[in-house]
Amino acid sequence: MSAIIEIKHLKKQFGANEVLKDINTTVHKGEVLTIIGSSGSGKSTFLRCINLLEKPSSGEILYKGENVLEKGYNLPKYRTHLGMVFQSFNLFNNMNVIENCISGQVTVLKRNREEAKTIALENLTKVGMAAFVSAKPAQLSGGQKQRVAIARALSMNPDVLLFDEPTSALDPEMVGEVLKTMKDLADSGLTMVIVTHEMGFAKEVSDRVIFMDQGVIAEEGTPEEFFAHPKEARTKEFLHRVLNN
Ligand code: ADP
Ligand code: MG
Repeated sequence: MSAIIEIKHLKKQFGANEVLKDINTTVHKGEVLTIIGSSGSGKSTFLRCINLLEKPSSGEILYKGENVLEKGYNLPKYRTHLGMVFQSFNLFNNMNVIENCISGQVTVLKRNREEAKTIALENLTKVGMAAFVSAKPAQLSGGQKQRVAIARALSMNPDVLLFDEPTSALDPEMVGEVLKTMKDLADSGLTMVIVTHEMGFAKEVSDRVIFMDQGVIAEEGTPEEFFAHPKEARTKEFLHRVLNN
């Protein structure tokens, strides 16, 4: 598997608070990587550093072998290669569903509207939302909004799609439809990095699981290794806690 993103000695601090301490890992093409860990362990900050919504304090992020933190690197271009799906959807509430999926393609990728519309419709079909093109976000359920957010991200043809707890803000009955959509994407070969509390999903869909604790990668492995044979005491304690409540 070829490396798309390599993270080397990544550190991030907010004032005196060292939130990421020395993160090293590689995202490979076609891989589904899930990140789990307690609240406050640094998972969101890690994702936000990968797509440079936060500026790392030190370390390297290599995209296809080039350090994106080097002076002069084309950051706007880099950002277009990464999609992000947030817990809180972040749709444009003043735009209908299809406009949400068209606008970035036109403004950022400079596609013409017709092409952008075709691509938007393809992706809305993929997530089962093609019947809602004219709806405004306020008219949709949480699960529907999140599927539109996924279609919007896909419409930018990202190399890697990052998800930050995409089902945490949903009513329980909506979680399944979003996880199903994400599983379909995983099966289609999309490269995905997913922060999630859905252990069943992580076990079923991941190629690799990362467990973060207090700003470090405390353990990393295949789902089989990780869930059936965790090595570290803090992994065992975490799994015991989340799987027994
Ligand atoms: P998680 O996503 O695992 O719950 P976060 O990455 O959100 O964890 O947060 C990790 C730590 O970083 C927390 O202590 C949080 O308060 C701190 N933190 C996150 N973002 C900021 C910020 N913008 N400014 C200051 N501290 C932050
Ligand atoms: Mg978080």
